[in-house]
Amino acid sequence: MLPPFNPITKAPYTDGERSHLRASFEQVSAEYRRQKRLGGWCMGGLFLGMVLLQVVPGSIQSGGGILIGLGLLAVLIMLLVTGLRMAGLLLCPGCHQKLEEIGAYCPECGSHGLKPGGWFSSPHCPTCNRKMRRNKGRHYTIRACSHCGLYLDEKGL
Ligand SMILES: [Zn+2]
Ligand SMILES: [Zn+2]
Repeated sequence: MLPPFNPITKAPYTDGERSHLRASFEQVSAEYRRQKRLGGWCMGGLFLGMVLLQVVPGSIQSGGGILIGLGLLAVLIMLLVTGLRMAGLLLCPGCHQKLEEIGAYCPECGSHGLKPGGWFSSPHCPTCNRKMRRNKGRHYTIRACSHCGLYLDEKGL
């Protein structure tokens, strides 16, 4: 078992570093949750637009259809931008690697020794017995950095 290890100072994180980095991550997680909510609204808007196009008779031929189409396009662009911003946000404040990527530590509980996944299996943590499943999005929460093991967020992202 390896403790959370700071690759920049090449030493395990000290208590001071941990609390400092966790505090700095609070802003990131707040922003991430905000962007995620925004993404949810966009998806809702997209769905509503699709329904309107189907329900309003002849809307595709009329001017209303163009308006809805333009609205949908705008929502799509918003979704794309939100997705990109969210991906860019999730960097570990300790080792500066991407939190979405799987490393040697468990993103759920932060313990070392995550078993890598194969073609048909997801990475698995023997400590908390969780699988890091991914299909059309992430099916696990990130509480710790998977690369250095730094514990970041109690609730998880
Ligand atoms: Zn890290
Ligand atoms: Zn775990």
